[in-house]
Formats: sequence, structure tokens, C-alpha cells
Amino acid sequence: MPKEVLDDVLENCVFLMLGEDAGVRAAFLPAALIGGKSVFAFYEMLYSKTADEQNSMVLHEIAHYVLGHSDRGLSDAEYVKQEEKANALKGQWNRDYKEYLDYVEKRANELVDRGECDDSSLAWDRACQEADERL
Ligand SMILES: [Zn+2]
Repeated sequence: MPKEVLDDVLENCVFLMLGEDAGVRAAFLPAALIGGKSVFAFYEMLYSKTADEQNSMVLHEIAHYVLGHSDRGLSDAEYVKQEEKANALKGQWNRDYKEYLDYVEKRANELVDRGECDDSSLAWDRACQEADERL
């Protein structure tokens, strides 16, 4: 996910973890609907998921936020279209992140191989900084 999206989410959204499973996996409530900050609600069943599944669910809901989605007055077809768009954006973020990690790993190995960095952890940190500056 782009840094500006993360900054926006942290500034304008609230995350809730609800103790009871209400039969919904996760929900995004837009600010316009509730008259304040946007709300992401997740249910405790999220804890039983793998890290990849947790990331997928959270990114999907954030994608709804970024795309300005709302459940109000949607036909079934419109709802399905919103779900597809949220999943497409989530997929793009995952591909971007994988590309970022691939770059960092390659660059960190280069730094160690060339003797520019003798500690692999420092090489990784430096490669992350370089990758961040490229974006
Ligand atoms: Zn959705």
C-alpha cells in the first residue's frame, strides 16, 4: 500500500476489533455514513486466520475506503462490482509490495556481495531506505 494511503488511513480512520462474531467477517463504514471518521470493523475470528489472510482482509477493507465505496442503496450487481474493484486494488498493492521486497532483497545481497555492507541486517535497512526513496 502506498505510504500516502497509509498516512490517510491512520489520520482519518478508526479500527475496531469487535468481541462477538456477528456473522460478518469485516466491514468498512464510510465517514459520510456515520458522520465522523471512517470505521473498519473486524471480528475476533480474524485472530484465527493466518497472517496472509489477516493482511488480505484488512487490505480489502482499506481498498473500499480508498475507492470511496459505500453499501448504501447498491444493487447486488453494484455490490459485486465494488467487491471486484476492492480486490483488484488489493491485488495491485500486493504486487507492488512483492516488487518492493524483491528489489530490497536483491539490493541487500548486492551491498553484501560488493563489500559495501558487512552486516546483512544493515544491508537490508539500507536497501529499504533506497527503495523508499525510489517510490
Ligand atoms: Zn468488500
